[in-house]
Amino acid sequence: MERFELPDDPLAGELDAFVAAHHLAERGRALDRTPDFPRPEFEAMGADQWLGLTTPSALGGRGLPAARAAALLYRLAFRSGTVFAKLSLQPEFSTVLREQGSEGLVDEWFRPLVAGRRLVGNQITEPHAGSDALAIRLEARPDGGGYRLTGEKSEVAFATEADAAIVYGRVTGGPEGVTAFLVPQERPGVTRHVVGVDLGERWQRRGSVTYRDVHVPASSRLGEEGEGFEYVRPELTRERAMLAAIYLGVARSAWVETVEHAGRRMAFGRPLSANQAVAFPLVEDGADLDAAGLYTARTLARLDEGKDVEGEAALAKAMATRIALRTIDHAVQFHGGRGYSNDLPFEQRWRDVRSGAIAHGSSEVLSLVAARKLWPRRPPA
Ligand SMILES: Cc1cc2nc3c(=O)[nH]c(=O)nc-3n(C[C@H](O)[C@H](O)[C@H](O)COP(=O)(O)OP(=O)(O)OC[C@H]3O[C@@H](n4cnc5c(N)ncnc54)[C@H](O)[C@@H]3O)c2cc1C
Repeated sequence: MERFELPDDPLAGELDAFVAAHHLAERGRALDRTPDFPRPEFEAMGADQWLGLTTPSALGGRGLPAARAAALLYRLAFRSGTVFAKLSLQPEFSTVLREQGSEGLVDEWFRPLVAGRRLVGNQITEPHAGSDALAIRLEARPDGGGYRLTGEKSEVAFATEADAAIVYGRVTGGPEGVTAFLVPQERPGVTRHVVGVDLGERWQRRGSVTYRDVHVPASSRLGEEGEGFEYVRPELTRERAMLAAIYLGVARSAWVETVEHAGRRMAFGRPLSANQAVAFPLVEDGADLDAAGLYTARTLARLDEGKDVEGEAALAKAMATRIALRTIDHAVQFHGGRGYSNDLPFEQRWRDVRSGAIAHGSSEVLSLVAARKLWPRRPPA
């Protein structure tokens, strides 16, 4: 097995310099202890074009293909953990706004998001509907050329920090499907609060947002009534493949540090690596990280070619999360007592990556997505 080297990219030096100048690795650690939304770094990332790497340059992004953007996010995650790599994806999580919003909405919210000046969240989940997202109930009642929103969103990231959110609901008397709206969060009738302290990724400060008869103009609707989930599906596919790269980047850094540690740390008069019980899992983790990385890269390349990779992207995220968690768990284990402590970064990395098995489609739901590709639903006979 070769020594690990990060893949090169013409932007790699610029990215490494940004990480160092803004102390992103240290900030990512500090945000775990004192959870807050990292507004200064968000603004700096926007100013230096590290938000929304695939966003077209006409909208302020770098317009990179998804495969190259993911390789850079892998590098960012390797250098600084999940926080800023995920933050970089925030415009990717808002493609429904970018593609379906009016020019006015894009100017008011999407461009400032890419520039790091306004944070836009996503609100799908409700207390009774998470995996089964089609069961959401938030009501959008047509009212004098606009809508009145009533309902509750839960589990959402940036519950109190988002300046606006893409909110999914059902139009009363409208079509079957779900409709997306862009809702500024300061509107009268919106109540927000953070709920509990998360296992990891605490900077996201998740919580609930309640809408009570909140008026939004018709111009805040994103696309057509009833089509919201059709718009968000391609976005989910892209983001899942890119998230896979992020989890693999974090796990690879843990693996590199553990391989080095196992070769150096002495026990019973020889390095830990002289024990097969330590060496073999690390060798396997290294190969599995490569395998998941290759699968993810192939998925992203096929995505960039315009192929349907919904099932592959789902599997890429599930596989990357599983392998990353196992690798980081070995990092905790082989660093012994200090590995278990927040003196070292591994336990935090494990907690942060653990969200990957739940958010943006749980691992079970991702298997369902992939299975539906193998056995598409047939119309009833
Ligand atoms: C860090 C983080 C950030 C998040 N950010 C957001 C956000 O910004 N916006 C937002 O809208 N939501 C967000 N969520 C919520 C997330 O999307 C949901 O938690 C997720 O979809 C699961 O829904 P649930 O919590 O209701 O669990 P449930 O749907 O109740 O599922 C519970 C468990 O049952 C399993 N399960 C459910 N159905 C099946 C089935 N048919 N077969 C097998 N297993 C099944 C699930 O996989 C899961 O393990 C976030 C979650 C996390 C952890």
